[in-house]
Amino acid sequence: MPSSREQSLTRRRYGERAVLGIGLYLLLALAPLILMLLAPLPPGRSFLRELSVALGFAGASVLGLQLAISARLRRLKAPYGIDAVYHFHRRISYLALALVLAHPTLLFIESPATLALLNVVTAPWRARLAVGSVLLLLALIGSSLRRKRIGLSYEAWRGLHDLLAVAVLVLAVGHMEGIGHYINAPWKRVLWIAYPVMWLGFLGYVRLAKPVLKLRRPYRITQVRREAPRVWTLGFHPEGHPGIKFLPGQFAWVTLRRSPFSFEEHPFSFSSSAEAGDGGFEMTVKELGDFTSTIGTVKPGETAYLDGPYGAFTTDRYPAGGYVFIAGGIGITPIMSLIRTAADRKDDSRMRLLYAASTVENLVFSDEIDTLTGGLSLRVTYILERPPEGWKGERGFMTRELLERNVEEMHDADFFICGPPPMMTAVEKALSELRVRPDRIHYERFDLV
Ligand SMILES: Cc1cc2nc3c(=O)[nH]c(=O)nc-3n(C[C@H](O)[C@H](O)[C@H](O)COP(=O)(O)OP(=O)(O)OC[C@H]3O[C@@H](n4cnc5c(N)ncnc54)[C@H](O)[C@@H]3O)c2cc1C
Repeated sequence: MPSSREQSLTRRRYGERAVLGIGLYLLLALAPLILMLLAPLPPGRSFLRELSVALGFAGASVLGLQLAISARLRRLKAPYGIDAVYHFHRRISYLALALVLAHPTLLFIESPATLALLNVVTAPWRARLAVGSVLLLLALIGSSLRRKRIGLSYEAWRGLHDLLAVAVLVLAVGHMEGIGHYINAPWKRVLWIAYPVMWLGFLGYVRLAKPVLKLRRPYRITQVRREAPRVWTLGFHPEGHPGIKFLPGQFAWVTLRRSPFSFEEHPFSFSSSAEAGDGGFEMTVKELGDFTSTIGTVKPGETAYLDGPYGAFTTDRYPAGGYVFIAGGIGITPIMSLIRTAADRKDDSRMRLLYAASTVENLVFSDEIDTLTGGLSLRVTYILERPPEGWKGERGFMTRELLERNVEEMHDADFFICGPPPMMTAVEKALSELRVRPDRIHYERFDLV
């Protein structure tokens, strides 16, 4: 493990980058609003009308920046962690919607006659484009919120999401062009040419540049190993390139049996040690749905493509007096990487693992974990939902009482939690009741959408 000085330097560097990223985001998001509000009020137009237009522009720029947020720019995302970035992406879309809706609302208040623009049969094209853009934006947000309820597969949703996002922006820019006079001033022209070009750049990066980069760095599957019922470990080895350097606990998007240009790629945590040194790695996958249920049929020699590493779920970034790992089911994978790496580094940090599974057969890696406790300062508690006859360990679910019983002398520890959503929620609540500082708790969520 890096020294605590190295770790705090890394933490500071990430902190500085985080602040820089937020500053850049605010600047890009608010530039159209600020510039419009600073400009002198054009003759014959009220403040309310100008404010309405400025909010519309701000809404469009926030929406355009969503492409940057979801573009998986590693340097930009590293300081926050993917979880936080997608959380922000979801939350900020509400702000964008509010800004976009404020635009016509203020206009209607200022001049009720403009309500006629909602009649798409009689309204001019520029108004039709605006109505279309808002309706598609509502569809975009609605389909994301209700994906599971309306039975949309992840891949179908992702394709639709990209399509709707581009359509919303194209119609919005068409609307601005249709109005014309608001973007005729030279600086506004420059801004509203630069913004769509930037958005296109992000899209081109994700859909073209990234797949080309992946194509040039293929991986060969070296082995497929059954770990437990419906759980498989895949070994990857770089083909003709040095491979990947990841931090323990991180993850990558994997494309298997598909072209790297395809929409279908799945995120998996590295389960092997980050100290392997040969650019190779392992991932451990539980059969769950369409893609993962075929994982056991993958054959050594098949080709895979990778986009990563990503994620902030790593002890390397958080110097602490000790570490408490709380895993549920397949959520053990990133934690296994943390433990294996600690063993390879001969790390003497105090570590505690609480690992919950439904049955003893589903405790993936338990034999290896028991062996590793010998060389590490690691204590392990297994928790079974349905324990076998004579089980002496913990049983049931993660509760505050269970944590209190099993996590002692860990007031200066950082907590790393990965498991099914109900377990994560229960642990989050329990740790908050136990007054663990929120900045000491780190989550890896396997259900991004
Ligand atoms: C950061 C992260 C790390 C993960 N690490 C592991 C791991 O180490 N081992 C493991 O078994 N699983 C891991 N997962 C979960 C794994 O990605 C999903 O189980 C898998 O993608 C499901 O695909 P499916 O087609 O088999 O199932 P589906 O039934 O299609 O999907 C089940 C759920 O998985 C999620 N999902 C599906 N496809 C994707 C996708 N392409 N991208 C993002 N989410 C998707 C959706 O929430 C979906 O509802 C991880 C997920 C994330 C976000």
